[in-house]
Amino acid sequence: MRTHRTTYRHCAIEIIEPTNPYAPCAFTINGHGESRDQRYTDHMQRSAAELLEFLKMNIDLRADGEIMGLTNMAHWYAPGTWEVCPASAGAAYNEHIKPVDGPCNESPCKKAAAKKARSERRRAEGHPSVAAISARLAKKFPRRGRRPNAGFAVMANDSCDYRKGVRVVWYREGGNMPLSTHPGQLPQIFEELRGVDRWSVDYDGGAVVNVISRTAGIR
Ligand SMILES: [Zn+2]
Repeated sequence: MRTHRTTYRHCAIEIIEPTNPYAPCAFTINGHGESRDQRYTDHMQRSAAELLEFLKMNIDLRADGEIMGLTNMAHWYAPGTWEVCPASAGAAYNEHIKPVDGPCNESPCKKAAAKKARSERRRAEGHPSVAAISARLAKKFPRRGRRPNAGFAVMANDSCDYRKGVRVVWYREGGNMPLSTHPGQLPQIFEELRGVDRWSVDYDGGAVVNVISRTAGIR
């Protein structure tokens, strides 16, 4: 039994040749095998030199790509380059890693980070919230009619674009969608909202009143 130890791209490789020439090699990467205390067993009949080339190729694939993946495969990356992603820490089946010096590359974390950045920008620009506008209008423009949707409705203006603030639309009694020909009380709503200093309010007489931050520099 002969043991070969080498380091490749900061990864420690250990290959143990079998005593029996027909048995496979065993190996560890950064001290890890199948599990923490167990070596990997090669599943092919190949020499220690052939196995070393195969392991280098696997290390290259990871080192040249983004740091990501499940924690139980993290030992294929150079020690010190990765850490457990805090968003997944302790998860039973999908705990994953991220680069030590950067954001997580896993798509759920990327999406969450983008969403957080959008809402932070929206807040930083001082855009009104749907809740703030709704509360303000509810006092002066109570819902009327038998249909629950008769009256105004407030919604975020295109969640993909934080720069657009919120929109207020009007549903007439019995109507399923806002119509430019039935603006309802939108003219009065426009007057109400444009009295607020920090908002820029845009209305052309149709079905939508747009409200954005005055300081957003859009208009
Ligand atoms: Zn993550």
